[in-house]
Amino acid sequence: MSTPPSSTPPPRSTAPAGSNLTGLRDHNTALVLSLLREASRGSSRAELATATGLTPQAVSKIVARLLAAELVAEDGRGPSTGGKPRTVLRLRPDAGFAVGVELDRRETTVLLVDLSGEVRHRATMPTGLADAPPRRTVELLATAVREALRAAPDGANLLGVGVGCRGPLDHAAGVLHRPAGLPAWDRFPLREALAAELAPLPVHLDKDTNTAALASAAPGQTAYLHFADGLGAGLLLDGALYRGARTNAGEFGHQVLQLDGPPCRCGARGCLEALCLAALDRDDTRTAARLLAVGAANLVQLLDVDRLVLGGRTILAAPEPYLSEIAEQLADRLPDRSWQHVPVSLTPAGPAAVAIGAAELVLAPVFGRGQGPGLRAEPVSRP
Ligand SMILES: [Zn+2]
Repeated sequence: MSTPPSSTPPPRSTAPAGSNLTGLRDHNTALVLSLLREASRGSSRAELATATGLTPQAVSKIVARLLAAELVAEDGRGPSTGGKPRTVLRLRPDAGFAVGVELDRRETTVLLVDLSGEVRHRATMPTGLADAPPRRTVELLATAVREALRAAPDGANLLGVGVGCRGPLDHAAGVLHRPAGLPAWDRFPLREALAAELAPLPVHLDKDTNTAALASAAPGQTAYLHFADGLGAGLLLDGALYRGARTNAGEFGHQVLQLDGPPCRCGARGCLEALCLAALDRDDTRTAARLLAVGAANLVQLLDVDRLVLGGRTILAAPEPYLSEIAEQLADRLPDRSWQHVPVSLTPAGPAAVAIGAAELVLAPVFGRGQGPGLRAEPVSRP
């Protein structure tokens, strides 16, 4: 662990979990933790055994390790089911914290999220990608992240920072590639620059559409459509984000729907995004929704998903036309409606979906989902 800069507070005490986290990264442990995260009223060892298919002895061993690592607590006794009452186990929300960031064109949102996924601190800055040079933006963002981390309890185990940002970008390298209208950010190594400011905290970067999709996770195949000042998709296929060969999948808004149509910020003409934005410029939300619905039906035909989820401030400001136009397009376009029922809904994470999902980039590996280190043996003090 490196020494924090002198301008920041000295490291607090080590995390309660400390080095006890070693060896907690196996699949069954992640499965038990994941069930406890979802069980709002807690769960008994017997219920965990039933839900996981593990033997009661195996569950008892895993629970003993989780109790020792202080990731889980025993919390009273549940109702008796005839035999002796069962001890209720709960995830300890304070056992780990992540910061989730939405870095938008004109605004930045920074959240502190606990291990249960609860937002514990929220701040917004009226500064975004379009307002300052990249280095300055990174400095401002690092200051806001440090501020958010101060809201965590003393000695908290800080797991990392996730940033959701407009694309195109390379998630693996943490680099933006020619973001429309933001030439200063072309090839800017955003993840590396922010990680240098926040060392030793790990930093993850992903497209805003992907992080918002993570915040809208559901079983099966989900296509998440995000419409803010741009239009994109996050694809959750078989329980994981589909990122593609260069981790830039989901450029849904740049499918061309009208040959020789109006110019798009991406350089092409007649893109779905350009057509939708042109309709909104005329205050014609119904036409924007109908166009988006045509693209959505194309996507459903291509990928055969279980559901569509919608988010982003443009849709959330007036969701009805989008929900109804998409339902109508799907009804018209899918050959057998009774067989191909694809429900359309709004993201349960609301307007904070990008930032909540960005924190989930850090938290999901703890529960055995997504890539990443999961829980580290060594807790990280505040940067
Ligand atoms: Zn385009």
